[in-house]
Amino acid sequence: MSTTTDRPTPIDTRTKLVGLLGRPLGHSFSPAMHNRAFQALGLNYCYLPIEVTTEDLATVAAGIAKMNFAGYNVTIPHKIRIMDCLDSIDPLAQAIGAVNTVTIRNGRTTGFNTDGIGFAHALEAAGESSVENKSVLILGAGGAARAIAMTLADQGATRIVICNRTESKAWDLSRDVNQQGRECATAIPLGAANMANALQDTDILINTTSIGMHPQDQQSPIANRLIQRHLVVCDIVYNPPLTHLLKVAQEKGCRIVRGIGMLVYQGAASFQLWTGRDAPVDIMRHAIHP
Ligand code: NAP
Repeated sequence: MSTTTDRPTPIDTRTKLVGLLGRPLGHSFSPAMHNRAFQALGLNYCYLPIEVTTEDLATVAAGIAKMNFAGYNVTIPHKIRIMDCLDSIDPLAQAIGAVNTVTIRNGRTTGFNTDGIGFAHALEAAGESSVENKSVLILGAGGAARAIAMTLADQGATRIVICNRTESKAWDLSRDVNQQGRECATAIPLGAANMANALQDTDILINTTSIGMHPQDQQSPIANRLIQRHLVVCDIVYNPPLTHLLKVAQEKGCRIVRGIGMLVYQGAASFQLWTGRDAPVDIMRHAIHP
């Protein structure tokens, strides 16, 4: 049995390891967030950053599966390539086409993707009980957009509209959502008139582009005048914690959802997969944003 404690758990032969495979990892909040959570629940786990090159990924993944690891996270640039190194892949991760969490049970590895679930939980924590019957506009069509779009389709969003700088990628993503998820997605070309039109029927606006990320703090993916009060406005950029887009939305009276929420809840979902325990989300949030 474990208890809530502030004492670090000593590392011994029973310690379960978890880690983060990626390169570079200098900026990652995950080790601090997870180690603080293990410590708070008195769990004998330790989270390690493991920088690994693309050439060495398969060898490292095979070695880890033979060690005392409960699993690991995977980040840029390995989220797609790791899929070739695993024994099985969860259907949602398969539809997304990328894995960010691996569990190891009895030497068998399974890949999951908790990014979209993390976003959905952050939305819920901000007071949006469900995306069912909701219309969503996603700005961007990269890896994070893919995870969010597939997850929200899976959770019953009525309509998902995707708008991206490279328009063909928006159409590709909407086609994949319709074919591998549920028939609910479409794309629109970039441009204020198209955006204004789409926003009239939108409940939830989500920025998944990197626009607004530090040091471009003053940039926004959408003109200020297009933000309307009825929208729930979400930005998955977490540095700065309150992006320019979110500041404007807040000033206009919109409900806002910050990127830190997704970061914490995707980590919480990974934590639950490894330990079988509910994650201490407030402690994890405090570890990355005191
Ligand atoms: P990605 O796969 O590289 O996708 C980047 C997206 O941003 C693409 O749609 C790209 O459009 C668009 N974009 C980039 N620069 C742009 C510009 N100057 N003008 C217009 N569009 C631009 O990256 P990702 O993994 O999806 O991550 C995207 C952002 O989300 C990053 O800031 C990342 O830190 C953040 N993120 C946050 C969390 C979280 O937990 N909160 C999780 C994952 C990612 P093109 O297709 O035209 O290139």
